[in-house]
Amino acid sequence: MMYKTIVEGTTKVLVPVPPQDAAFPPSAAPVFYNPEMELNRDINVAATAAFVKRLLSGKKLLREEIRYVDAFSASGIRGLRIAGEVGIHATMNDWNSDAFEMIKENIKINGLEEKTLATHKSANVLLHEQKFHIVDIDPFGTPSPFLDAASASVRNMLSVTATDTAPLCGAHLKAGIRKYAAVPLNTEYHSEMGLRVLLGACARELAKHEKGMLPLISHVTRHYVRTYLKVLPGAKQTDKTLKSMGFSIHCPTCGFRGPVYGLAVHIKNDCPVCGSFTQIAGPLWLGPFREQAFCDEVISELEVHPLNTKDKAKKLITFSRDELDIPMFYDQHVICKELGVSATGIEILIEALKAHGFEASRTHFSGTSFRTDAPITEIKEIIRAL
Ligand code: SAM
Repeated sequence: MMYKTIVEGTTKVLVPVPPQDAAFPPSAAPVFYNPEMELNRDINVAATAAFVKRLLSGKKLLREEIRYVDAFSASGIRGLRIAGEVGIHATMNDWNSDAFEMIKENIKINGLEEKTLATHKSANVLLHEQKFHIVDIDPFGTPSPFLDAASASVRNMLSVTATDTAPLCGAHLKAGIRKYAAVPLNTEYHSEMGLRVLLGACARELAKHEKGMLPLISHVTRHYVRTYLKVLPGAKQTDKTLKSMGFSIHCPTCGFRGPVYGLAVHIKNDCPVCGSFTQIAGPLWLGPFREQAFCDEVISELEVHPLNTKDKAKKLITFSRDELDIPMFYDQHVICKELGVSATGIEILIEALKAHGFEASRTHFSGTSFRTDAPITEIKEIIRAL
């Protein structure tokens, strides 16, 4: 295997060069490195820097006391970037021996011996042994087998990546139910469904440890779901958190969708608009999936850090910040297809909805999606009239 040095942010990391062969994905290399995740890691630097500022302003912790763990570290890149670019202590862990050796080599390359520690353990063992202020889990595929240990370990912020989008979004229904103990629906808003299934699973895992949560930033691409959760200790906060859990009703006949808040609920199966039989997804997180003030803080951090994906990251976080807090977006193209009309520009539709007195916004999930408080019957009339 050949190796090369890559630079992300201000961090230099030695990574394997996989053969230029489609049959050889990054996961087949002795140590994993996926350049497509640079955006995810750039946002991680900005979000962690913003969160550390909040921790320091609370005056309960000194910078030197803050402990971050990159529990699935591979080359070490995520933790090294946090130690070097955010300036807090990072533990980088991987159970693979090649990865462990590479992490130690990359610590030396960056001169970060004082600010880092390499560990060679099962992530669940490490997370059950030690508490960290910030726990970052970025495993292969699903994070579900690690959420319990991560919830036990975390004090202040839990960051989670999930790349098993098919189970999360309902495309692999049985796998989704097995991994997340929730029923997803494979609708046109499947990407938001996946995020809310993951957030719901995190809320329930944290709740077992009497910890509540508040999502600070979340974003979804075709390949992965990523979220940053502020952790709120105590039974009271946990009970408050669980009030944002519930179910989502979807009518496959007319497109009606609606949230039902609460876990102990009675749900009617007939659609309130057309009377047809509805489908029910859940339990899910129905609360906001980001905090607008935190998005602004992350955008400010993106400005000051030298990052290759800065513009893309700013655009993504800005879209996410400006979305309405109404669960389950609509897709303009799906509605237009049903009505047999052509789609206008998405901004024209949003302006038309607003002109009729409704709230409306775009979403970060796709260029053709929108959120609104308008009922589905009104949405269709407005689209027909455009
Ligand atoms: N965070 C890395 C990055 O940003 O480049 C990528 C991590 S890669 C997706 C997952 C890593 O987790 C692999 O290096 C694998 O060896 C390691 N791993 C998988 N299961 C593990 C476990 N249970 N405990 C510790 N490490 C594990």
